[in-house]
Amino acid sequence: MHTTDSTSTRLIDRFGRRVNYVRISVTDRCDFRCVYCMSETMTFLPRAEVLSLEEILFVARAFTELGVTKIRLTGGEPLVRKNVLWLAREIGRLPALRELALTTNGTQLEKMASELRAAGVRRVNISLDSLDPERFRRITRVGDLAKVLRGIEAARRAGFDRLKINAVILRHRNDDEVARLTRFAVDRGMDLSFIEEMPLGVIGDHDRAEAYYSSDRIRTDLEREFTLLPTTETTGGPSRYYRVAGTDTRVGFISPHSHNFCGSCNRVRLTPEGRLLLCLGQEFSADLRAVVRGFPGDHDRLKETIVAAMTIKPKGHEFDLSAQPVILRHMNVTGG
Ligand code: SAM
Ligand code: SF4
Repeated sequence: MHTTDSTSTRLIDRFGRRVNYVRISVTDRCDFRCVYCMSETMTFLPRAEVLSLEEILFVARAFTELGVTKIRLTGGEPLVRKNVLWLAREIGRLPALRELALTTNGTQLEKMASELRAAGVRRVNISLDSLDPERFRRITRVGDLAKVLRGIEAARRAGFDRLKINAVILRHRNDDEVARLTRFAVDRGMDLSFIEEMPLGVIGDHDRAEAYYSSDRIRTDLEREFTLLPTTETTGGPSRYYRVAGTDTRVGFISPHSHNFCGSCNRVRLTPEGRLLLCLGQEFSADLRAVVRGFPGDHDRLKETIVAAMTIKPKGHEFDLSAQPVILRHMNVTGG
């Protein structure tokens, strides 16, 4: 296996799904410890196991040459990785890339938003689960809401194409805030996605079945205050979108449990240690780091490995909240 022929310039899996979107987790580290994402004490990857920024760029370039047009930087918290702006700038310059996006917890946006925009980041998703400072701290275990709100304002001033709030709704924790969060987004012309919690990694002090709050319930809650108009608009992701009548805001529901979205999956993920994950909810993966480090500069070999990995992309995830997680990696490794 050592030629890249013209038939391999597109990533198509066994089920005919075209992969044109890659989420790159640039670090597993984070300055928060959100209850649904991490344990209070975490052991992070040793530095030597994490891809260097140059290695990440090498992989990103290979993907764009294989037809990937959208890359999202995520983590862990992507903005705590040193020199991540350099990486954003270099990826932003890849000729075939149409959209560079970012998912962040917002803590670094106050100081980095305008540089990120200048680096070519077009869309930013900011996680915000509560507008109550005390609660916000409890959910993130350490977070300072005021700092994140200042980050959101900095992002608004920086002129991104679109900003979106991501909120994971948990029963008894923040399920009474769905309307308030929606109002927050509407008032600022931002979009908003409500995410059902996914069982990734074992987290000792948090019961996922107990915390489950379905997208359908959120929608019903919202419809008491807002008129939601179904829309066929999509951002190419798993969200089902509604427009909030009379506003510029779209509300999305990411519901892996109640509405499986795998049929139209167009994405893969790169973990910080260079594993290409074919599905968020399954362990099928290819070791790209072994290729990048074993055959430095061998672009064709890397592309062939990526193309070959399409054959192990599974049909879908099999999340089950009532059982122990079969996926032992936490979300910070996977990259949201
Ligand atoms: N640190 C950044 C942030 O929080 O936005 C980026 C990484 S974070 C893993 C990406 C998204 O995944 C966040 O919106 C977060 O709320 C969500 N998330 C984390 N763990 C999750 C889980 N177990 N189920 C569902 N969503 C989760
Ligand atoms: Fe960090 Fe994001 Fe996970 Fe929260 S959800 S612990 S901010 S990586």
